[in-house]
Amino acid sequence: MTLSYTALRAAVLEGKSSFRSEVEATLGRIAKENPHLNALLEVYGEEALSAAERWDQTVDKGDPLPPLAGLLYVHKDNIAYAGHRLSASSRILEGYVSPFSATAVERLSAVGAICIGRANCDEFAMGSSNENSAYGPVQHPFAEGYVPGGSSGGSAAAVAANFCHVALGSDTGGSIRQPAAFCGLYGLKPTYGRVSRHGLIAYASSFDQIGPLSSSLEDLIKVYSVIAGFDTRDATTSTRPVVEYRQKPAPRRWAWLIPQGLHPDVEAAIRILHERLLGQGFSVELIDFPYWDYLIPTYYILTTAEASSNLARYDGVRYGHRAKQAQTLEELYARSRSEGFGKEVKRRILLGTFVLSAGYFDAYYTQAQKVRRVLYEYTQACFQRYDLIALPTSATPPFRLGEKTSDPIQMYLSDLLTVYANLTGHPALQVPIGKTKSGLPVGIQLMGPLYQEDILFDAAYALASLDK
Ligand code: GLN
Repeated sequence: MTLSYTALRAAVLEGKSSFRSEVEATLGRIAKENPHLNALLEVYGEEALSAAERWDQTVDKGDPLPPLAGLLYVHKDNIAYAGHRLSASSRILEGYVSPFSATAVERLSAVGAICIGRANCDEFAMGSSNENSAYGPVQHPFAEGYVPGGSSGGSAAAVAANFCHVALGSDTGGSIRQPAAFCGLYGLKPTYGRVSRHGLIAYASSFDQIGPLSSSLEDLIKVYSVIAGFDTRDATTSTRPVVEYRQKPAPRRWAWLIPQGLHPDVEAAIRILHERLLGQGFSVELIDFPYWDYLIPTYYILTTAEASSNLARYDGVRYGHRAKQAQTLEELYARSRSEGFGKEVKRRILLGTFVLSAGYFDAYYTQAQKVRRVLYEYTQACFQRYDLIALPTSATPPFRLGEKTSDPIQMYLSDLLTVYANLTGHPALQVPIGKTKSGLPVGIQLMGPLYQEDILFDAAYALASLDK
């Protein structure tokens, strides 16, 4: 069984189910499976039950039901929820309670959605397997011994394990799409500037976007439509209006972007899809992409630079962990940060500080910004000829827990296909398309023109109907 809010709402309105019974059943599953999965760091059981009761009463009275009343969602542990803990899965923020909510969370509450828990993630959203969390790794929801992907691994596992209808994640270089692909879900990285980052713990501010993961495309679109739009508290949000989504015929001109070195089962799934699209009369053209070698270096130079600056605020003074034995202010900073940050976060702060240092700034940072611009121009030009660009979300299926932890470069390389959309700011939707021989999920991502998430939804519906 797969949870879908759209189906639940219809059942409740027909008197066949109740929001409370849905929450009870969900809490039962969480109690049974979460200790093993470690997807949720906290469960808001009582709150969820009382919110559900309130919506049941609204239905009983025949009052109008807000658009997402009773939709269950979880927030990634880097998205603020007022009065609740927020740690970015780091020791340095242990015990911190957020005094305010992220705009995305606020907007979901305003239309009746119920937040049922806080999802585990890689520390400060740095990682691709959810093995960098200070609170332990997340297990893949149905492939024992495998990673669920990262950094929104807890969010993805929570959706796939039916702990919620939708999860909020954040995507700086693939952290929504890659775990969604590993867990067989839909996952959207919106256009940069489409969803407010207010209340999202910053990793690399010119890349970060909040977005939804779900097994239901309909539910994902509903949540996206609520969280998208201008916000006075985030100056990078666009003032373009968010138009209500209405399904249109699928876009026909697809650019097909296939890198070398795909896992054979991923390649096979992609090839089958290609043939089916051609069979349906789509124009699917293989395009040449000259920039593969530049994606990972550019991404890691720019994001570590931004991270080293964003993470300077965790100094043991303002919030979170404070070292006990420091004698001087300098020592307080050094000890608090040494004790509070994990290994990967420290590695990135060091890298970022290095690329920003006086002697190297132009050689690395300025150069990477130039490459970013070239990629952007290339991509904009592509959208003159094509409606969308399709490429695999990950070159490999989910890997085993521990398989890449000793080799950070291998871990970084697993982001090759997802960082592209963050470098250019374009929206990208991960769509599940099949399974490997051993039953592991495979996905494809659809990249669209800026602010045209609706085209991606139309295309995703077309892909879903190929299966019928
Ligand atoms: N895996 C990438 C990284 O570690 C992406 C992370 C993200 O999107 N938050 O930087």
